[in-house]
Amino acid sequence: MKRLSIRARLTLWYTGILATTLILLGGVAYGLLMRGLWHDVDATLESVAKTLAQTARRPAAELFPSDLDEVLRRFFGPSLADKFYQFLDPRGRLDPRWPQFRGEPLHVSPEALRNAAQGTATFETVTDRGQYPVRILTMPVMLRGQVVNVLQVGMSLEGLFMARQHFLWSLAALVPLALVLAGSGGWLLARRALRPVDQMTMAARRIGAEHLAQRLEGAEADDELGRLARTLNEMLARLEAAFAQVRRFSADASHELKTPLTVLRGEIEVALRSPRDPAEYRRVLESVLEEVASMARLVDDLLLLSRADAGALRWETGAVELDRLVEEVAKEGEILGRGKQVRVTIEGMEPLIVQGDGQRLKQLLRDLVDNGVKYTPAGGRVALSLRRVESSNGRKVASGKPVDQLTSRPIDPSVEWAEIEVRDTGIGIPAEALPRIFERFYRVDPARSREAGGAGLGLCIAKTIAEAHGGRIEVQSTPGSGSAFTVRLPLAARQA
Ligand code: ADP
Repeated sequence: MKRLSIRARLTLWYTGILATTLILLGGVAYGLLMRGLWHDVDATLESVAKTLAQTARRPAAELFPSDLDEVLRRFFGPSLADKFYQFLDPRGRLDPRWPQFRGEPLHVSPEALRNAAQGTATFETVTDRGQYPVRILTMPVMLRGQVVNVLQVGMSLEGLFMARQHFLWSLAALVPLALVLAGSGGWLLARRALRPVDQMTMAARRIGAEHLAQRLEGAEADDELGRLARTLNEMLARLEAAFAQVRRFSADASHELKTPLTVLRGEIEVALRSPRDPAEYRRVLESVLEEVASMARLVDDLLLLSRADAGALRWETGAVELDRLVEEVAKEGEILGRGKQVRVTIEGMEPLIVQGDGQRLKQLLRDLVDNGVKYTPAGGRVALSLRRVESSNGRKVASGKPVDQLTSRPIDPSVEWAEIEVRDTGIGIPAEALPRIFERFYRVDPARSREAGGAGLGLCIAKTIAEAHGGRIEVQSTPGSGSAFTVRLPLAARQA
């Protein structure tokens, strides 16, 4: 089933609620009106009856005051004046001593007579007298404690019925009118209120991948629509940044691959230009192989990063003995450093186990140690250490309690972290470069880095691996005196 537009639904709801309110109000007004009208009829009948009864109690000579008709006319109006009253004797027969109206006698019910005999009045409504029902009051006329007559006064309910009909007709005409007016008002209001949404929809539709720098208007308003516009704009900003990153990434990747390809091509072309002896060919092939290996490494790195971006990287999970890992990487680093006269040592070690992918964690550590050796001049040192810490960001004491240094939240004693530090005495990293060194393809000194076979992806991969393990990586560095990289990984379980 097709869903109605918000505008139509708003209008329907609005009109529905108004209709219910009007019908309820109409019902209450009808009830009050009818109550008032009935009360008026009964009060009129009662006061007429009292006047007549008073007349009846006068001495015989004054029995028929000529102005009686006049009195009744005042109450009932000319058409009913002389019709609707009669005097009965206590047994219910017409009392011949009294003038009766010319029409049919009024109805006398046994119950009313019984009540009259006991001295109480009775109101009844009879429906067999013409088009409209008649309200009849049957009242005893008492003289010295005795019922001498029974007096009946009747009144047509025509007026009451006409008033009721008028009321109902007005209601029937006004309610739909009010609903139509309110409905169209609501429809217009809803359109006005929702117009910005339509405009936003159209604006959002115009913004394609090429126009991500555009923003929606109306974000400054402090209402629901302003919030919506702000949220969409924030999303656009994130998309823009992500798109820019992807573009930069592929541009940088092509550029990185182009350089070794150009070198390869040059070497091969030179080698082919004239015949050479086997030793020379061998040298060229070795150099080509080196270049190809470095390209293969680069492609591997790129693949890893793009898979991680797409969330498609497969991670092994298992218990990883970090102390073993650190030892292995330190040994490799030692061999690497020997050629450069950089010592790689282990300072401090604890047996710690984390859950994760051992191969990738090793890659992370290897990247850090390689960098340490790469950026440390001869005679320098790279030191590794592994220890247990209580927070992922370091510890700070605030108002007597240990809190996380970065988040200032209380440290959860049930979660512990393994901290691996790789500290070197190398060239260090300038302060302005520190926030950027984990970015893709970022190198403080591109020429030097490329010479050492780096494409600026190592630290980015290290960060991806640390974060995939729920951990984090940080750096501190003083140019000229060395750098310290710290990786913190959550421990598998609390270890005694
Ligand atoms: P690269 O492949 O160039 O080494 P990385 O992502 O590993 O790329 O490092 C990025 C940049 O950070 C490097 O180019 C280098 O300038 C700087 N860097 C990384 N580690 C160190 C270190 N231990 N000492 C000094 N500079 C470093």
